Amino acid sequence: MKKILILSCLFLFGCPTVKKDCNFNEHNQVLAQASETKKHKIDSVNSKTIVESQKVLKLKQGETLAHLLKPYGLNAVDILDISNKLNPYISVNKMKVGHNINLIMDGNNIKRIKIPIAFNQEITLNKINNNWQAQKSNLETETQYKVIVGRIEGSFYQSALDTHAPLSVINRFMLAYSHNVDFQRTIRRGDRFRLIYTEKFLKDDSKIKQVDKLKYAELTLSNKTTRLYRFESTDKGDYFYDNEGKLANSFLLRTPLEGARLSSHFGKRKHPVLGYTRIHKGIDFGAPKGTPILAAGNGIIEKSGWGGSFGNLIRIKHKNGYQSLYAHLNGFAKGIKKGVKVKQGQIIGYLGNTGLSQARHLHYEIHKNGRAIDPLKLKQASSIKLKGKQLIAFEKYKKKINQHLI
Ligand SMILES: [Zn+2]
Repeated sequence: MKKILILSCLFLFGCPTVKKDCNFNEHNQVLAQASETKKHKIDSVNSKTIVESQKVLKLKQGETLAHLLKPYGLNAVDILDISNKLNPYISVNKMKVGHNINLIMDGNNIKRIKIPIAFNQEITLNKINNNWQAQKSNLETETQYKVIVGRIEGSFYQSALDTHAPLSVINRFMLAYSHNVDFQRTIRRGDRFRLIYTEKFLKDDSKIKQVDKLKYAELTLSNKTTRLYRFESTDKGDYFYDNEGKLANSFLLRTPLEGARLSSHFGKRKHPVLGYTRIHKGIDFGAPKGTPILAAGNGIIEKSGWGGSFGNLIRIKHKNGYQSLYAHLNGFAKGIKKGVKVKQGQIIGYLGNTGLSQARHLHYEIHKNGRAIDPLKLKQASSIKLKGKQLIAFEKYKKKINQHLI
C-alpha cells in the first residue's frame, strides 16, 4: 500500500491551506480575475472624496498596447512615450497574449499604469509634467517551507511525482544525489525520501506563488539515511553539503541551471530534427527561455559565439582535461568572451532555441580529454569541506532546517 504523507509548514504563520504551484501566467490570470475594484480615498489637500478604481486589461491576440490604452484617452504621443520608457524592462512588441495592464483610474482618467514584468516585479508608469516616467518595483514576498515525505514504490521519480512535489525540485533532488546514488539501480522498493523546498508568494496576494529552491534532500536506502543541506556560503556560493559539511556536488555541476527538467539523456537516440539515430553527446534540459546558464566549474572561456547547428555556444576549459559546452543559448552574459576566467555557478548565458533546435532547451556536454562523457556519470568527488566560521554558520543553518522535520 502506498503511504505518502505530505506535510506543509508555513515558515512564519503556521499551516497553509494552499499547495498549488503558480507561475507568471497564473499571476496574470489571478490579477485579471480581480477585475475592477473601487476604493474611496479622502484627498487630504482638497478634502474631497476621490473615487479611485482599478481596471485590469488583458492583451488579446493581435492587440497592441495602443489598442488597449486608446479608449482611455491616451494619444499616439503618450503611447510612444510609454513604450520607450518600458523598453529597458520589457519590450512592448514582445508582450504576450494574456499580459496584464493594470490601470489605476481617478474617475475617468488614468492615474497610474502598472505592468507586471516578473513574478515579483512590476513597472509603475506615472505621468509627470506631460512625460511618462517608469519605475520598477520589487513586490514584497514571503517564504514558505514545504516538507514532503515519500516512500518509493516503483522508481524514485514516479514516487516523488506522486507526492506532487514540483518537477524542478525533484530534478534538483536527483541531481544533488546523482554523484552518490544511481537512481536506476541503487534504489529499492520501500526506500524512503524526505525533502524541503521553499516557495515564495506575494505578500499582497498569497495566491501568486513561485517555487523557489530545494533546501534539503534526504534519502533512506536500505535503512541507511543520508542528508544533504543546501547552504549558501559567502566564498563558495550555493551548494549542497552532507551532514558533516562536505560538498556533495562534483567539481563540475551536473546541472548548470536552476529549475530545469531533464528532457533528453546521453547516448543513442533518434535526432529530433535530423530524424536519424545518432549518439547524443550531451544531455538536454528544458526550462523557460532566458533561464540563466551557470558555469559548470571554474575555468576559462574557450569559445563564446555562433556555433552553427549549436546556435549560440559557450565552451569552457576546466582543469584536468575537462571541457564543458552549452548550446542553443538565447544570448551571452555580459563580459563572457574568449579568454575570460569564470567561476563555478557564475551566469554565463541564457537558455534559448538557436541553431538546429526544435524547442527551447539547453544542450549540455562535458568532454574529458576531447571525448564526450555523460555529465550525469561524473564521478569526481569533491574534497571541499566547510571550515571555521562557515562550518559554524552551517551547523546553525542545519538546526533551522531540521526544525521543519520534526
Ligand atoms: Zn542535446
